[in-house]
Amino acid sequence: MGRYDLTRADLAGLLAGEPAYRVEQLWAGLARGDGPAAVSSLPRPLRDRLAADPALAPSLAPEAEMAADGGTTVKWRHALGDGRRIETVLMAYPGRATVCVSTQAGCAMGCGFCATGQAGFERNLTTGEVVEQVVRAAAAARAGGRRLSHVVFMGMGEPLANYDRVWAAVERIHGDLGLSARHLTISTVGLVPGIRRLAGEALPVNLAVSLHAADDELRDRLVPVNRRYRLAELLAACERWRQSRNRRLSFEWALIDGVNDRAADADRLAALARPLGAHVNLIPLNPTPGWPTRGSPPAAVAAFRGRLAGAGVNATVRRTRGGAVDAACGQLAAPTMLAAATRRRPD
Ligand code: SAH
Ligand code: SF4
Repeated sequence: MGRYDLTRADLAGLLAGEPAYRVEQLWAGLARGDGPAAVSSLPRPLRDRLAADPALAPSLAPEAEMAADGGTTVKWRHALGDGRRIETVLMAYPGRATVCVSTQAGCAMGCGFCATGQAGFERNLTTGEVVEQVVRAAAAARAGGRRLSHVVFMGMGEPLANYDRVWAAVERIHGDLGLSARHLTISTVGLVPGIRRLAGEALPVNLAVSLHAADDELRDRLVPVNRRYRLAELLAACERWRQSRNRRLSFEWALIDGVNDRAADADRLAALARPLGAHVNLIPLNPTPGWPTRGSPPAAVAAFRGRLAGAGVNATVRRTRGGAVDAACGQLAAPTMLAAATRRRPD
Protein backbone atom coordinates (compact mmCIF):
# COMPACT_ATOMS: atom_id res chain seq x y z
CA MET A 1 0.00 0.00 0.00
CA GLY A 2 1.23 3.49 -0.74
CA ARG A 3 0.27 7.10 -1.25
CA TYR A 4 -2.05 6.44 -4.20
CA ASP A 5 -4.04 3.88 -2.23
CA LEU A 6 -5.25 6.62 0.10
CA THR A 7 -8.67 8.20 -0.30
CA ARG A 8 -9.43 11.85 0.37
CA ALA A 9 -10.83 10.74 3.73
CA ASP A 10 -7.52 9.02 4.52
CA LEU A 11 -5.65 12.23 3.69
CA ALA A 12 -8.06 14.18 5.88
CA GLY A 13 -7.15 11.81 8.71
CA LEU A 14 -3.43 12.46 8.18
CA LEU A 15 -4.14 16.19 8.09
CA ALA A 16 -6.32 16.27 11.22
CA GLY A 17 -6.08 19.70 12.86
CA GLU A 18 -5.11 21.43 9.60
CA PRO A 19 -7.48 23.63 7.56
CA ALA A 20 -9.74 21.54 5.33
CA TYR A 21 -8.31 22.97 2.09
CA ARG A 22 -4.96 21.31 2.84
CA VAL A 23 -6.54 17.99 1.81
CA GLU A 24 -7.21 19.28 -1.70
CA GLN A 25 -3.73 20.81 -1.93
CA LEU A 26 -2.08 17.53 -1.01
CA TRP A 27 -4.44 15.51 -3.21
CA ALA A 28 -3.73 17.74 -6.22
CA GLY A 29 0.03 17.64 -5.56
CA LEU A 30 0.04 13.85 -5.45
CA ALA A 31 -2.02 13.68 -8.65
CA ARG A 32 0.66 15.82 -10.34
CA GLY A 33 3.28 13.32 -9.27
CA ASP A 34 4.80 15.40 -6.48
CA GLY A 35 5.82 13.75 -3.24
CA PRO A 36 4.59 15.50 -0.06
CA ALA A 37 7.92 17.31 0.27
CA ALA A 38 7.42 18.97 -3.12
CA VAL A 39 3.86 20.23 -2.64
CA SER A 40 4.85 23.87 -2.38
CA SER A 41 1.38 25.10 -1.46
CA LEU A 42 1.83 23.42 1.95
CA PRO A 43 3.83 25.08 4.75
CA ARG A 44 7.34 23.70 5.14
CA PRO A 45 6.90 22.07 8.59
CA LEU A 46 3.77 20.25 7.40
CA ARG A 47 5.57 19.06 4.29
CA ASP A 48 8.38 17.70 6.42
CA ARG A 49 5.97 15.85 8.67
CA LEU A 50 4.04 14.36 5.74
CA ALA A 51 7.22 13.38 3.92
CA ALA A 52 8.24 11.32 6.95
CA ASP A 53 4.85 9.58 7.21
CA PRO A 54 5.10 5.97 6.00
CA ALA A 55 1.44 6.05 4.87
CA LEU A 56 2.49 8.57 2.20
CA ALA A 57 5.45 6.57 0.90
CA PRO A 58 5.43 5.69 -2.80
CA SER A 59 4.47 2.12 -3.83
CA LEU A 60 6.91 1.86 -6.69
CA ALA A 61 10.68 2.05 -6.64
CA PRO A 62 12.04 2.53 -10.17
CA GLU A 63 14.84 -0.02 -10.62
CA ALA A 64 15.63 0.31 -14.27
CA GLU A 65 14.69 2.53 -17.17
CA MET A 66 15.25 1.31 -20.69
CA ALA A 67 14.64 3.30 -23.86
CA ALA A 68 14.06 2.14 -27.43
CA ASP A 69 12.79 3.51 -30.74
CA GLY A 70 14.98 6.59 -30.50
CA GLY A 71 13.76 7.38 -26.98
CA THR A 72 10.06 7.40 -27.88
CA THR A 73 9.45 4.12 -26.02
CA VAL A 74 10.56 3.87 -22.41
CA LYS A 75 10.14 0.83 -20.22
CA TRP A 76 10.47 0.99 -16.45
CA ARG A 77 10.98 -1.91 -14.14
CA HIS A 78 9.47 -1.02 -10.78
CA ALA A 79 10.02 -2.87 -7.51
CA LEU A 80 6.93 -3.13 -5.32
CA GLY A 81 7.01 -2.88 -1.53
CA ASP A 82 7.28 -6.64 -1.18
CA GLY A 83 10.13 -6.88 -3.67
CA ARG A 84 8.04 -8.17 -6.58
CA ARG A 85 8.58 -6.49 -9.92
CA ILE A 86 6.31 -5.05 -12.55
CA GLU A 87 6.84 -3.18 -15.78
CA THR A 88 5.32 -0.07 -17.31
CA VAL A 89 5.83 1.18 -20.85
CA LEU A 90 5.43 4.75 -22.11
CA MET A 91 5.02 5.22 -25.84
CA ALA A 92 5.27 8.73 -27.25
CA TYR A 93 3.59 9.75 -30.48
CA PRO A 94 3.59 13.19 -32.06
CA GLY A 95 1.70 15.41 -29.62
CA ARG A 96 0.49 12.67 -27.30
CA ALA A 97 1.61 9.71 -25.27
CA THR A 98 0.18 6.36 -24.20
CA VAL A 99 1.15 4.38 -21.14
CA CYS A 100 0.75 0.63 -20.94
CA VAL A 101 0.26 -0.37 -17.30
CA SER A 102 0.47 -3.66 -15.43
CA THR A 103 -2.47 -4.80 -13.31
CA GLN A 104 -0.93 -7.88 -11.70
CA ALA A 105 2.53 -9.14 -10.86
CA GLY A 106 2.57 -12.12 -13.23
CA CYS A 107 -0.60 -13.65 -14.64
CA ALA A 108 -2.55 -16.82 -13.92
CA MET A 109 -4.10 -17.20 -17.38
CA GLY A 110 -1.25 -19.24 -18.81
CA CYS A 111 -1.25 -18.13 -22.46
CA GLY A 112 1.83 -19.95 -23.69
CA PHE A 113 2.98 -17.29 -26.16
CA CYS A 114 3.11 -14.54 -23.52
CA ALA A 115 6.14 -13.96 -21.31
CA THR A 116 3.97 -12.91 -18.38
CA GLY A 117 1.87 -16.04 -18.74
CA GLN A 118 4.99 -18.19 -18.93
CA ALA A 119 6.13 -16.83 -15.58
CA GLY A 120 2.90 -17.54 -13.70
CA PHE A 121 0.93 -15.55 -11.14
CA GLU A 122 2.38 -13.67 -8.19
CA ARG A 123 -0.29 -11.27 -6.93
CA ASN A 124 -2.84 -8.61 -7.75
CA LEU A 125 -1.66 -5.02 -7.80
CA THR A 126 -3.38 -2.54 -5.50
CA THR A 127 -5.29 0.41 -6.94
CA GLY A 128 -2.46 2.70 -5.83
CA GLU A 129 0.16 0.58 -7.60
CA VAL A 130 -1.79 0.93 -10.85
CA VAL A 131 -2.46 4.66 -10.42
CA GLU A 132 1.16 5.37 -9.52
CA GLN A 133 2.34 3.86 -12.81
CA VAL A 134 0.14 6.36 -14.65
CA VAL A 135 1.18 9.31 -12.47
CA ARG A 136 4.88 8.56 -12.99
CA ALA A 137 4.44 8.08 -16.72
CA ALA A 138 2.50 11.34 -16.96
CA ALA A 139 5.32 13.16 -15.20
CA ALA A 140 7.89 11.61 -17.53
CA ALA A 141 5.80 12.56 -20.57
CA ARG A 142 5.51 16.14 -19.28
CA ALA A 143 9.25 16.32 -18.80
CA GLY A 144 9.58 15.33 -22.46
CA GLY A 145 7.14 18.03 -23.57
CA ARG A 146 4.23 15.67 -24.17
CA ARG A 147 0.89 15.14 -22.54
CA LEU A 148 -0.09 11.71 -21.40
CA SER A 149 -3.44 11.21 -23.08
CA HIS A 150 -4.09 7.47 -23.25
CA VAL A 151 -3.83 4.55 -20.87
CA VAL A 152 -3.97 0.93 -22.01
CA PHE A 153 -4.35 -1.82 -19.42
CA MET A 154 -2.23 -4.17 -21.50
CA GLY A 155 0.89 -4.68 -19.41
CA MET A 156 1.51 -7.60 -17.12
CA GLY A 157 -1.56 -9.38 -15.83
CA GLU A 158 -5.23 -9.82 -16.59
CA PRO A 159 -7.14 -6.65 -15.60
CA LEU A 160 -10.52 -8.34 -15.22
CA ALA A 161 -9.05 -10.92 -12.83
CA ASN A 162 -8.32 -7.95 -10.51
CA TYR A 163 -11.55 -6.17 -11.27
CA ASP A 164 -12.31 -4.06 -8.20
CA ARG A 165 -8.86 -2.55 -7.84
CA VAL A 166 -8.47 -1.93 -11.56
CA TRP A 167 -11.86 -0.27 -11.79
CA ALA A 168 -11.07 1.94 -8.81
CA ALA A 169 -7.86 2.91 -10.65
CA VAL A 170 -9.89 3.74 -13.79
CA GLU A 171 -12.11 6.04 -11.75
CA ARG A 172 -9.13 7.83 -10.24
CA ILE A 173 -7.31 8.15 -13.56
CA HIS A 174 -10.46 9.64 -15.04
CA GLY A 175 -11.49 11.78 -12.07
CA ASP A 176 -8.21 12.96 -10.58
CA LEU A 177 -5.73 12.76 -13.42
CA GLY A 178 -8.29 14.12 -15.87
CA LEU A 179 -7.95 11.58 -18.66
CA SER A 180 -10.99 10.98 -20.82
CA ALA A 181 -12.61 7.58 -20.20
CA ARG A 182 -12.69 7.16 -23.97
CA HIS A 183 -8.90 7.24 -23.93
CA LEU A 184 -8.69 4.32 -21.51
CA THR A 185 -8.64 0.78 -22.89
CA ILE A 186 -9.00 -2.40 -20.87
CA SER A 187 -7.62 -5.46 -22.59
CA THR A 188 -8.89 -8.87 -21.52
CA VAL A 189 -8.16 -12.44 -22.43
CA GLY A 190 -11.94 -12.96 -22.33
CA LEU A 191 -13.17 -13.22 -18.73
CA VAL A 192 -16.90 -13.21 -19.38
CA PRO A 193 -18.09 -12.22 -15.87
CA GLY A 194 -15.77 -9.20 -15.97
CA ILE A 195 -17.02 -8.11 -19.40
CA ARG A 196 -20.59 -8.32 -18.09
CA ARG A 197 -19.67 -6.13 -15.15
CA LEU A 198 -17.96 -3.62 -17.42
CA ALA A 199 -21.16 -3.36 -19.45
CA GLY A 200 -22.87 -1.96 -16.36
CA GLU A 201 -20.26 0.68 -15.51
CA ALA A 202 -20.97 4.34 -16.10
CA LEU A 203 -17.58 5.33 -17.52
CA PRO A 204 -17.33 4.51 -21.23
CA VAL A 205 -13.87 2.95 -21.41
CA ASN A 206 -12.84 0.95 -24.48
CA LEU A 207 -12.69 -2.82 -24.46
CA ALA A 208 -10.12 -4.90 -26.30
CA VAL A 209 -10.58 -8.65 -26.32
CA SER A 210 -7.56 -10.81 -27.03
CA LEU A 211 -9.15 -13.26 -29.42
CA HIS A 212 -6.24 -14.81 -31.38
CA ALA A 213 -8.45 -17.60 -32.69
CA ALA A 214 -11.98 -17.66 -34.05
CA ASP A 215 -12.75 -21.33 -33.39
CA ASP A 216 -12.80 -23.10 -30.05
CA GLU A 217 -10.43 -25.86 -31.07
CA LEU A 218 -7.55 -23.48 -31.86
CA ARG A 219 -8.41 -21.00 -29.11
CA ASP A 220 -8.35 -23.79 -26.51
CA ARG A 221 -4.72 -24.37 -27.45
CA LEU A 222 -3.63 -20.73 -27.59
CA VAL A 223 -5.68 -19.25 -24.74
CA PRO A 224 -6.37 -21.85 -22.02
CA VAL A 225 -9.14 -19.78 -20.41
CA ASN A 226 -11.20 -20.52 -23.53
CA ARG A 227 -11.92 -23.92 -22.01
CA ARG A 228 -13.85 -22.10 -19.28
CA TYR A 229 -15.49 -19.36 -21.37
CA ARG A 230 -16.25 -20.65 -24.86
CA LEU A 231 -16.24 -18.36 -27.88
CA ALA A 232 -20.02 -18.24 -28.20
CA GLU A 233 -20.38 -17.08 -24.61
CA LEU A 234 -17.54 -14.59 -24.99
CA LEU A 235 -19.00 -13.09 -28.15
CA ALA A 236 -22.43 -12.83 -26.54
CA ALA A 237 -20.87 -10.87 -23.65
CA CYS A 238 -19.09 -8.61 -26.19
CA GLU A 239 -22.37 -7.96 -27.97
CA ARG A 240 -24.07 -7.04 -24.72
CA TRP A 241 -21.22 -4.76 -23.75
CA ARG A 242 -21.34 -3.02 -27.10
CA GLN A 243 -25.07 -2.54 -27.04
CA SER A 244 -25.05 -1.20 -23.50
CA ARG A 245 -23.44 2.09 -24.52
CA ASN A 246 -22.66 1.71 -28.19
CA ARG A 247 -18.97 1.55 -27.36
CA ARG A 248 -15.97 0.71 -29.38
CA LEU A 249 -14.90 -2.92 -29.32
CA SER A 250 -11.66 -4.25 -30.68
CA PHE A 251 -10.17 -7.68 -31.07
CA GLU A 252 -6.48 -8.30 -30.57
CA TRP A 253 -4.96 -10.92 -32.80
CA ALA A 254 -1.32 -11.94 -32.39
CA LEU A 255 -0.39 -13.32 -35.80
CA ILE A 256 1.48 -16.60 -35.40
CA ASP A 257 3.21 -18.07 -38.41
CA GLY A 258 1.19 -20.96 -39.86
CA VAL A 259 -1.02 -21.18 -36.76
CA ASN A 260 -3.68 -18.45 -37.02
CA ASP A 261 -2.64 -16.48 -40.11
CA ARG A 262 -4.23 -18.58 -42.84
CA ALA A 263 -7.00 -17.38 -45.17
CA ALA A 264 -9.51 -19.57 -43.35
CA ASP A 265 -8.55 -17.89 -40.04
CA ALA A 266 -9.13 -14.45 -41.54
CA ASP A 267 -12.50 -15.54 -42.90
CA ARG A 268 -13.62 -16.94 -39.56
CA LEU A 269 -12.43 -13.82 -37.75
CA ALA A 270 -14.24 -11.57 -40.23
CA ALA A 271 -17.44 -13.52 -39.69
CA LEU A 272 -17.22 -12.83 -35.95
CA ALA A 273 -15.97 -9.25 -36.08
CA ARG A 274 -18.30 -7.81 -38.69
CA PRO A 275 -21.63 -8.24 -36.88
CA LEU A 276 -20.05 -6.74 -33.75
CA GLY A 277 -18.57 -3.80 -35.66
CA ALA A 278 -15.27 -4.73 -34.04
CA HIS A 279 -11.99 -3.22 -35.08
CA VAL A 280 -9.12 -5.72 -35.34
CA ASN A 281 -5.61 -5.01 -34.08
CA LEU A 282 -3.08 -7.31 -35.69
CA ILE A 283 0.16 -7.80 -33.78
CA PRO A 284 2.78 -10.02 -35.39
CA LEU A 285 3.74 -12.33 -32.48
CA ASN A 286 6.71 -11.00 -30.58
CA PRO A 287 9.33 -13.54 -29.57
CA THR A 288 9.38 -14.78 -25.97
CA PRO A 289 11.74 -17.25 -24.35
CA GLY A 290 9.22 -20.03 -23.75
CA TRP A 291 7.39 -20.27 -27.08
CA PRO A 292 8.87 -21.82 -30.19
CA THR A 293 6.58 -20.48 -32.93
CA ARG A 294 7.39 -17.24 -34.74
CA GLY A 295 5.39 -14.20 -35.69
CA SER A 296 3.93 -14.11 -39.19
CA PRO A 297 6.22 -12.60 -41.84
CA PRO A 298 5.23 -9.19 -43.29
CA ALA A 299 3.71 -10.64 -46.46
CA ALA A 300 1.42 -12.92 -44.45
CA VAL A 301 0.44 -9.99 -42.21
CA ALA A 302 -0.45 -7.88 -45.25
CA ALA A 303 -2.41 -10.73 -46.84
CA PHE A 304 -4.34 -11.35 -43.63
CA ARG A 305 -5.21 -7.71 -43.30
CA GLY A 306 -6.24 -7.51 -46.94
CA ARG A 307 -8.53 -10.48 -46.55
CA LEU A 308 -10.22 -8.90 -43.55
CA ALA A 309 -10.64 -5.64 -45.45
CA GLY A 310 -12.18 -7.54 -48.37
CA ALA A 311 -14.74 -8.93 -45.92
CA GLY A 312 -15.56 -5.44 -44.62
CA VAL A 313 -13.52 -5.56 -41.39
CA ASN A 314 -11.12 -2.77 -40.48
CA ALA A 315 -7.79 -3.90 -39.18
CA THR A 316 -4.70 -2.04 -38.02
CA VAL A 317 -1.28 -3.59 -37.94
CA ARG A 318 0.21 -2.51 -34.66
CA ARG A 319 3.69 -1.24 -35.11
CA THR A 320 5.90 -3.18 -32.77
CA ARG A 321 7.27 -0.87 -30.15
CA GLY A 322 10.12 -1.48 -27.78
CA GLY A 323 11.30 -4.83 -29.10
CA ALA A 324 14.90 -3.93 -28.31
CA VAL A 325 14.11 -3.61 -24.61
CA ASP A 326 11.56 -6.46 -24.41
CA ALA A 327 8.81 -3.91 -23.97
CA ALA A 328 6.67 -5.11 -26.86
CA CYS A 329 3.32 -6.84 -26.31
CA GLY A 330 3.71 -10.10 -24.49
CA GLN A 331 7.38 -9.57 -23.76
CA LEU A 332 7.01 -7.91 -20.38
CA ALA A 333 8.89 -9.86 -17.74
CA ALA A 334 10.85 -11.71 -20.37
CA PRO A 335 14.21 -10.87 -18.80
CA THR A 336 13.14 -10.55 -15.18
CA MET A 337 11.13 -13.70 -14.87
CA LEU A 338 12.98 -15.88 -17.34
CA ALA A 339 14.04 -18.26 -14.60
CA ALA A 340 10.46 -19.00 -13.70
CA ALA A 341 9.33 -19.58 -17.24
CA THR A 342 8.61 -23.12 -18.26
CA ARG A 343 8.87 -24.12 -21.84
CA ARG A 344 5.49 -24.71 -23.41
CA ARG A 345 4.47 -25.81 -26.84
CA PRO A 346 1.27 -25.17 -28.71
CA ASP A 347 0.28 -28.84 -28.53
N1 SAH B 1 -4.15 -10.02 -20.04
C1 SAH B 1 -4.66 -9.07 -20.96
C2 SAH B 1 -3.81 -7.83 -21.11
C3 SAH B 1 -2.32 -8.03 -21.12
S1 SAH B 1 -1.65 -8.86 -22.53
C4 SAH B 1 -4.91 -9.72 -22.31
O1 SAH B 1 -4.45 -10.85 -22.52
O2 SAH B 1 -5.56 -9.10 -23.13
C5 SAH B 1 -1.73 -7.56 -23.77
C6 SAH B 1 -1.82 -8.06 -25.21
O3 SAH B 1 -0.57 -8.61 -25.63
C7 SAH B 1 -2.86 -9.15 -25.40
O4 SAH B 1 -3.61 -8.89 -26.56
C8 SAH B 1 -2.00 -10.37 -25.56
O5 SAH B 1 -2.68 -11.42 -26.21
C9 SAH B 1 -0.85 -9.82 -26.33
N2 SAH B 1 0.33 -10.66 -26.35
C10 SAH B 1 0.75 -11.52 -25.38
N3 SAH B 1 1.90 -12.12 -25.77
C11 SAH B 1 2.21 -11.63 -26.98
C12 SAH B 1 3.30 -11.85 -27.88
N4 SAH B 1 4.30 -12.68 -27.58
N5 SAH B 1 3.31 -11.16 -29.04
C13 SAH B 1 2.31 -10.29 -29.34
N6 SAH B 1 1.27 -10.04 -28.53
C14 SAH B 1 1.21 -10.71 -27.36
FE1 SF4 C 1 -2.10 -13.14 -19.03
FE2 SF4 C 1 -2.78 -11.60 -21.13
FE3 SF4 C 1 -0.39 -12.83 -21.04
FE4 SF4 C 1 -2.62 -14.29 -21.40
S1 SF4 C 1 -1.80 -12.74 -22.81
S2 SF4 C 1 -0.93 -14.79 -19.99
S3 SF4 C 1 -4.05 -13.18 -20.13
S4 SF4 C 1 -1.09 -11.24 -19.68
